[in-house]
Amino acid sequence: MPDRLGPPLVTPVFDRLALVGLGLIGSSLARVARSKHLARHIVAIDASETVRNRVTELGIADAVTGNVAEGVANADAVILCVPVGVCGVVAEAMRSGLKPGAIISDVGSVKGSIVAQVTPFVPDGVHFVPAHPVAGTEQSGPDAGFPTLFLNRWCILTPPEGQNAEAIAAIRAFWEGAGSMVEEMSPAHHDLVLAITSHLPHLIAYNIVGTAADLEAVTQSEVIKFSAGGFRDFTRIAASDPTMWRDVFLNNKDAVLEMLGRFTEDLSSLQRAIRYGDGEALFNHFTRTRAIRRSIIETGQDSAAPDFGRQPKANSDQ
Ligand code: NAP
Repeated sequence: MPDRLGPPLVTPVFDRLALVGLGLIGSSLARVARSKHLARHIVAIDASETVRNRVTELGIADAVTGNVAEGVANADAVILCVPVGVCGVVAEAMRSGLKPGAIISDVGSVKGSIVAQVTPFVPDGVHFVPAHPVAGTEQSGPDAGFPTLFLNRWCILTPPEGQNAEAIAAIRAFWEGAGSMVEEMSPAHHDLVLAITSHLPHLIAYNIVGTAADLEAVTQSEVIKFSAGGFRDFTRIAASDPTMWRDVFLNNKDAVLEMLGRFTEDLSSLQRAIRYGDGEALFNHFTRTRAIRRSIIETGQDSAAPDFGRQPKANSDQ
């Protein structure tokens, strides 16, 4: 697998690309779009003046604005990189500025809800190709982004049936240019898969770190001091952006609750094995899970290094 981005494209995928929301994901896209020449002109749109000023200082876009309708004017593609819960509001605000033939996409961690929020505001003649890069870190904001965030990571597209093939191909080419591997599936299937691979692990991390922090018998300093015993990896995940994750859980409620139900049942059976001293059940379970870790490393989705995930600028699947 390549460990660096290839040379810039000779012909960019998009002439004018508008990115709405220049946080971790949006600013990483701006950086890779610039370095790989995926777009000739990049417009950065963000509601926050602080973010806009920082994007200007960083020089990662050709134009910066807080006005969504103005910012998307003449764009060939608009990618929403805002929290899941505001995608509908942003789609409504940009509607009047979109040119015929433009492509709307997004990067949201939940797909069914975003399709439901955005679709009513997609004008005739504009194409909507939802996407989710399964890559991220626990950091937020324009300074957290980096151009190799999407390298060797999956990007899942969930285009509606019958969507314009050229629009899908353009979004695919964009993500491939950013170094990603692309797969297509339905929004419902995406939300179920991500509920178990990403959303539930985050919920468990938020919960376990909260539980440890609440324990009266163990002081805060001991929790921090002895964190290497497994807890530290949970704290990294539990440091993820509260707005983003609130929106993920509120917008993927059914799939998360389904997976949480299964998880609770399985946890009860481990609890039972511990209570009744069933070492064989525990050993078999841990052997099975160890094999899953090995296959993730074999497919290049993580490193076998013991400090995985703690390096600065390391990307994790979210
Ligand atoms: P982030 O770093 O917090 O950036 C989001 C940006 O959007 C912020 O600059 C925010 O401004 C801005 N924003 C919020 N509401 C807006 C609005 N109505 N109009 C314009 N800009 C607005 O978040 P992120 O981590 O990049 O996540 C963005 C999206 O990517 C989310 O949908 C998330 O589900 C998805 N995603 C995230 C990851 C990850 O690991 N973080 C991975 C894959 C996908 P303020 O700071 O003022 O709120």
